[in-house]
Amino acid sequence: MKIPKTIKTYCKKCKKHTEHKLTQYKARSARKLSIGTRKNIRKHKTGYGGMAKHIATVKKQNKKPVFTAECTVCKAKHYFVIPKKMKKTEFNA
Ligand SMILES: [Zn+2]
Repeated sequence: MKIPKTIKTYCKKCKKHTEHKLTQYKARSARKLSIGTRKNIRKHKTGYGGMAKHIATVKKQNKKPVFTAECTVCKAKHYFVIPKKMKKTEFNA
């Protein structure tokens, strides 16, 4: 589906609707020494209970696309999710 490069949406910082630039959101890798990561490893990957199970063999085809929207007035960034599953997203030229 084709998506416009700029949208007009509400900015929490400006407290009004402003122009926003859209870019594809990319998750950074988790910090290995953070307390949450260590707790997760302790809970799921150690001892007899730490055997991996329910590993998905079929990958999901469609996802709800997530974008980073940047306000052109105050440069604040926030998430912008399109609440519809789609296979492919493309920005309008
Ligand atoms: Zn703003």
